[in-house]
Amino acid sequence: MNNQSKMPNDLSSFWMPFTHNRGFKEDPRMVVSADGMFYKSADGRDILDGTAGLWCVNAGHNAPRIVKAVQQQVAEMDYAPNFQFGHPKAFEFASRVADLFPEGMDHVFFTNSGSESVDTALKIALHYHRARGDAARTRLIGRERGYHGTGFGGISVGGISKNRMHFGSLLTGVDHLPHTHDIAKNAFSRGCPEHGGIEKANALLDIIALHDPSTIAAVIVEPMAGSTGVLMPPKGYLQRLREICTQYGILLIFDEVITGYGRLGKASASEYFGVTPDIITTAKGLTNAVIPAGAVIVSNEIYQSAMDHADAAIELFHGYTYSGHPMAAAAGLATLDTYAEEGLFENAAALSSYWEDAVHSLKGGRNVIDLRNLGLVAGIELAPRAGAPGSRGMEAMIKAWEKGAMIRVTGDIIALSPPLIVEKSHIDQLFSVVAEVIAEIE
Ligand code: PMP
Repeated sequence: MNNQSKMPNDLSSFWMPFTHNRGFKEDPRMVVSADGMFYKSADGRDILDGTAGLWCVNAGHNAPRIVKAVQQQVAEMDYAPNFQFGHPKAFEFASRVADLFPEGMDHVFFTNSGSESVDTALKIALHYHRARGDAARTRLIGRERGYHGTGFGGISVGGISKNRMHFGSLLTGVDHLPHTHDIAKNAFSRGCPEHGGIEKANALLDIIALHDPSTIAAVIVEPMAGSTGVLMPPKGYLQRLREICTQYGILLIFDEVITGYGRLGKASASEYFGVTPDIITTAKGLTNAVIPAGAVIVSNEIYQSAMDHADAAIELFHGYTYSGHPMAAAAGLATLDTYAEEGLFENAAALSSYWEDAVHSLKGGRNVIDLRNLGLVAGIELAPRAGAPGSRGMEAMIKAWEKGAMIRVTGDIIALSPPLIVEKSHIDQLFSVVAEVIAEIE
């Protein structure tokens, strides 16, 4: 069968997520197989994966060890519940995950996605305070331009108006910190920007001042905001948030769905920045996206408190049919082995300065108003076209696809995040495509 014949006859039944369905279906961009750093398109071209799928295929595509582990697991045991029964791999997987996160965070709750991890984390935060007799702490604080998935909890604390405005009144009792992006002061920063970290974090004090602080349950932020255009935390920001949360007894949640599992050259952004939150949400790179899965890592204090203060035999009335699914556990264990044995977090760290130079080589490019980088992440911000914001971004994505690279865009911001198996030659190829694309967009 040639690749062209793999094009489906019917494109209308599948209502595609976060997609301009009408445009896509007129001119579909279809991939049919993958290997390492590349997809194969339906018309037979090699497409360099500049985004690790959706920031998730950190070990590269079809990594042999993971493929084999999944094949073996499906033949051995397809499914087992983790409600009142259990299977060994889920326990092994939980301890291996906990080992990757900061000391004192040794307990893991499994989910199936980043969105579920976020909603689980918010529920655990509320449950924690209530279990300790602090039931007035129900208020949640997110951030403008935060992305925390698409569950009702996640969109309530999230700060993207288009993700919120169509869906009713959302959770009540939610406030938002200001976002940290300040292009006037910090444009073209290498790594974390210099300006505004303390001041932006201190905005939490203003929210605290508005409410009785003993009504606030948790603050949730992405240590580095990915989906809203790659916004790096200004220096000192995360440390200051941690200080304020500790001072007022507020739990700090880091949403590490993107930054977890090596994206910044360390197992987590918490480790990278040396800031330990109370709860960490993850997904994506947890299983290399081979099997959908998420994990919420909580402090020993939170876990122990649930065990000590339970008002019923079951400590937490929460979970999913597929929490700790055997396939996810098998894929995840093989993924963590692959990261360790191939030194992929170290590879990301080692290549990050080469990456940084490649990103900033675009300075002076047509319409480029900012360039941002951290670990193996890049944000390339183009000036919006008058009257048609987002159109330059969309053109960039389509042109890159035509030139053999998959990139991601949010509005007019290009986001890049290759698999961590990337080599210098791939970085050169990716940035040469992006440079060409930018030069062609009016
Ligand atoms: N949180 C963050 C920070 C994310 O980047 C994402 C997905 N990009 C999510 C949550 C939601 O994850 P999922 O799409 O797996 O539900």
